[in-house]
Amino acid sequence: MSAPLHRYVFRAPLRLRSALHIGSGERGDVVDSPVLKDFLHQPFIPGSSLKGAMRSHLERLLPALGLSTCRLFDPTASCPGADPNGQAAKDLQRRLEPLRQDAAARHDLIRQSVCPMCQAFGSSFNKARVLFADAPLRNPGLPLVETRDGVGIDRDSHRAVDGIKYDYEVVSSYAVFDVEITLEEPDPPTLGIAALGFLELARGHIALGGLTSRGLGKVFIDEGEIEVRGLNLADPNLRREYLKTGRAPLIPNPIGFLVQHAEALA
Ligand SMILES: [Zn+2]
Repeated sequence: MSAPLHRYVFRAPLRLRSALHIGSGERGDVVDSPVLKDFLHQPFIPGSSLKGAMRSHLERLLPALGLSTCRLFDPTASCPGADPNGQAAKDLQRRLEPLRQDAAARHDLIRQSVCPMCQAFGSSFNKARVLFADAPLRNPGLPLVETRDGVGIDRDSHRAVDGIKYDYEVVSSYAVFDVEITLEEPDPPTLGIAALGFLELARGHIALGGLTSRGLGKVFIDEGEIEVRGLNLADPNLRREYLKTGRAPLIPNPIGFLVQHAEALA
């Protein structure tokens, strides 16, 4: 029998304390640096932006809490997930080679080899267990995109360059985005890392997008608006509720749940 389905969903409206600039990566016709918009021309926060910001924040925070983690693109890291060209990745690749026919053994070896952060966020060896949905605007239709004037920045010195002007779009601080992350078959460290990351986002400790050094990208979540749903089909009561409603049941006291799992990391 396969393992019972086990899933958590964390959901909340993300609010802004400052304007936000998540660039589309392309130079616009009207503005030099437009913000990313969906096919209805509404700004949104891509799941990959949330994921990247949360992971790099946790990579700095966890060592300060006395927990070990790898850093992405660090070729000297002992975790094979850190850098696909690093020595640890090459060593794991070599150990996986004879297990080509044995998916379960490969899976076990990868699980034992990559660090908890890579277990949660994924690496070149394993799928992520924490999945970040794109966050759509909760209040579409409002005029929430503004254009600002900037000065050109020298790429090497990071200093302002006289005479070069460019303009960029920002999403105004009135915007609210619906954030949702899903945890698939999380083990306790993955649950702890995702819970801590979500709490840090709520507390306003994770900045999003570009131009954060100019004060943009400050976001927070009102703790009272956090919703956590949990589905554990091994539990007969939860199984009955799921069959009745088709949704994972709400977990009472979501903040208590997140804090308890984050604390279990230490
Ligand atoms: Zn790692």
